[in-house]
Amino acid sequence: MKLGIFGGTFDPIHNAHLFLAESARLLEGLDRVLFVPTRVQHYRNAAQVSAEHRCAMVLGAIATNPKFKLDDTDLRPDATGYTADLLPRLRERYPGDSLTFIIGADSLANSTWERFDTVLEHLDRFVIAPRPGVRAEALQRVIAAVPKNLRERIATLNMPELPESATLIRTLLSQGRSVRYLVPEAVWQYIVAQKLYGITE
Ligand code: ATP
Repeated sequence: MKLGIFGGTFDPIHNAHLFLAESARLLEGLDRVLFVPTRVQHYRNAAQVSAEHRCAMVLGAIATNPKFKLDDTDLRPDATGYTADLLPRLRERYPGDSLTFIIGADSLANSTWERFDTVLEHLDRFVIAPRPGVRAEALQRVIAAVPKNLRERIATLNMPELPESATLIRTLLSQGRSVRYLVPEAVWQYIVAQKLYGITE
């Protein structure tokens, strides 16, 4: 089985996440995409809402796509939040499957990854989606530093840039504005019902 691994904070999950996962699935011929919410964040501020809420929103968002699943490996109490530590656990959990890691270009261009070579060694493919504001040169610089045998595992996804970000969603909500149609309907309903991200009604 060809598995896509899509890690993130998902605070909250939004439409660009889903479009990216579906694009990667189709372009890479993946059988399934695993959404892997993280408990620990190293390269950004802590999540604004709990892992339980974030998972509930992911489950609501992916419910209509039988190829999408939630994986809780990176939420375990002993998860380090480093992809280099997550991947051996996923290899154990899905023995014999091919693993394709899916990310947005900002994740690679804007932070220095711990043990990036190790990450690539655990993977069959590492695919990158374009993201507004990320310059191709910044990405190329990171990729050029990878040993050639591992560099061959990295590819860019041919898909449009999408403007949504969880930061934008949280900002709009904190200003009392609607994010309906920027997130799946189930996520919007959940945010309203649970009064998340500072909304008052
Ligand atoms: P935040 O705005 O809080 O940083 P985010 O929208 O980037 O959040 P994450 O959960 O941190 O959401 O992202 C999970 C993965 O999805 C990351 O690899 C990120 O680069 C990617 N991603 C999120 N939004 C987009 C987008 N609009 N285009 C391409 N990739 C995206």
